[in-house]
Amino acid sequence: MSKPTVADLKRTLETWAPPQAKLDYDNIGYQIGNPSQKVSKALICLDVTSEVVQEAADVGADCLISHHPILFKKPSEILTTTLQGALIHQIIEAGCSLITAHTNLDAAPNGVSFKLAETLDLHGVEFLRPFEVAGQSVGFGAVGDLSSPMNPTEFARHVASSLGQQTLRTAGGRDTKGSDFTIHRVAVCGGSGSSLLDEVSWNGIDAFVTADITYHRFFVEQPGLFLVDVGHYESEMMIIEAIKEVLDQAYPSVEFHSTNIQTNPVTYHSFSDS
Ligand SMILES: [Zn+2]
Repeated sequence: MSKPTVADLKRTLETWAPPQAKLDYDNIGYQIGNPSQKVSKALICLDVTSEVVQEAADVGADCLISHHPILFKKPSEILTTTLQGALIHQIIEAGCSLITAHTNLDAAPNGVSFKLAETLDLHGVEFLRPFEVAGQSVGFGAVGDLSSPMNPTEFARHVASSLGQQTLRTAGGRDTKGSDFTIHRVAVCGGSGSSLLDEVSWNGIDAFVTADITYHRFFVEQPGLFLVDVGHYESEMMIIEAIKEVLDQAYPSVEFHSTNIQTNPVTYHSFSDS
């Protein structure tokens, strides 16, 4: 069977995650390489780090597919003395191309937020902020129901165990009388979802799971809303397997690998002796 090109892989990803759905600041699709390069092996990751590029070289990947782009703004120089420049050199030296699907994949059906909702075992999942591009339904965030209601503490434990975490940050979780309430309906947004807080506050939603909530946004104005910040990497890492599934199905002749490298730059320290 003939091998697809980098352009074919990009087209398949963009059929799923339409490029018109991306946020204005974003830069998706081609990043580095040769669109007509044939692909026998490819490596899928969330973040491109030096270790990931080394892994791509080790498996003999012709193409790297990442969620987060490494090129946002036009660099004024590409030097090995900067982190970004060194990565670009390393990718080219590895004979690899790099393509990304970022905020367009956040907005895609079965994209980043849907995968987070699935991991948390939510039912009847739909877009939180739906819109249409190029005749396709897309949206930001996702909302669905728990199969059995939980109080905030039980829900926090459920989220932590579903994502394999020891630590997460929460706020709110009290009703107007200052008592715990029961969580049925949950909104999620993989990555930085604070911009969806307004939607969450008036949609009959009991809990919102996202990442990168800043201190002042943790002051929950709405009684009866529980905020859960799970961390950016933790809220998005499941998209790697989702990308692999889509590409495996489209190109059985290509060997797709998920990275084995944990690229989360954040370390949680726990100093309690108990
Ligand atoms: Zn992200």
